[in-house]
Amino acid sequence: QQRIKLAVLGAPGVGKSSIIRQFVNQEFNTEYIPTEKKHVYLPSVIINDHLYELKIIDCPYIPYFPVNSLYEWTDFRGYGLRNATAYILVYDITSEESFQYIKNIRDQILESRDMHDIPLFVVGNKHDLSEERGISRREVASMVKKHWKCGYIECSAKCNWHIVLLFKELMKTIDHIDYGH
Ligand code: GDP
Ligand code: MG
Repeated sequence: QQRIKLAVLGAPGVGKSSIIRQFVNQEFNTEYIPTEKKHVYLPSVIINDHLYELKIIDCPYIPYFPVNSLYEWTDFRGYGLRNATAYILVYDITSEESFQYIKNIRDQILESRDMHDIPLFVVGNKHDLSEERGISRREVASMVKKHWKCGYIECSAKCNWHIVLLFKELMKTIDHIDYGH
């Protein structure tokens, strides 16, 4: 069985690496170590009573680039994001700007492939800092669920809160896809 490829994308510092490390290794580091190059995790995990072979791609900073160039850019840089099974778009709930960033990334993904049944999953991280919220949960939820029609969850990599649930919900979405190949 082929590995399920999950691309984790979002602005620098939102907690992409932390979410992955919490999920895969059950560890959290308060120090910020920017991800310099792509890092691939290959965990075999049981989610919803089902064994999944995952390939989780932790992406370094992807600068803004013109819409439509994700295809060329990712292939050129060898990130291999174009054929991901799903995209996890992470923002930091204390940063409105980080939500704008994933809007932009989503536009680029839409432009670069037929999104018919490619799941996007939106994750608002750093829920433990909800007193410093920079964008309301309601605003994001209505946008994401109504207009983007994709899954949405808030979590905290720091507190290991909703990290497993995030992957459970994501895998439920993926299981509904007919890959057609
Ligand atoms: P990345 O650049 O998106 O990979 O972000 P990192 O995973 O490297 O995290 C950036 C910083 O945010 C680090 O200092 C982390 O310790 C911190 N961080 C990550 N997740 C959380 C969280 O859920 N809550 C809080 N308070 N800090 C977090
Ligand atoms: Mg990182």
